[in-house]
Amino acid sequence: MRVMNEDDVWARLYHVPDPEIPEVNIVELGMVSDVRVTQHTVQITLRPPFAACPLLEWFRRRIAEALFPAPVWIQYRLTDWWAAESISEVTRQKLMASGIYAPRYNEGMTVHCPFCESALVDCTHPVGHAPCRALYYCHACHRPFEVWKLS
Ligand SMILES: [Zn+2]
Repeated sequence: MRVMNEDDVWARLYHVPDPEIPEVNIVELGMVSDVRVTQHTVQITLRPPFAACPLLEWFRRRIAEALFPAPVWIQYRLTDWWAAESISEVTRQKLMASGIYAPRYNEGMTVHCPFCESALVDCTHPVGHAPCRALYYCHACHRPFEVWKLS
């Protein structure tokens, strides 16, 4: 008998938030690339933002807690890195409401203010609250915001 089915696993993973942006979860962000349920374990494959991401162990623990008591095996696919491009449009809107802009590849590196959508913005610091984000300032509405770096 299987420990749980894949739909159960995905449903539980929706309750694992990003550690710094609790409004969004790891599934919405596109960090989970694969879920497999075998007879004895749940196998999760994650797309890490970068190899030295300080949150990898945090993700591992939170996923194991969310899937308890199922035995969980988590691997990071180091050839399939997470990128801001993986973020769904709905999630992108949630991030904008939180003051975080996630650029798209097809926009080049054009950054818009998440509050007023102005392009009159400047990067004020290459590292934000997390190494994968940068700090920006909007000259139109005079508010600081963060930008998720394309990787
Ligand atoms: Zn603005």
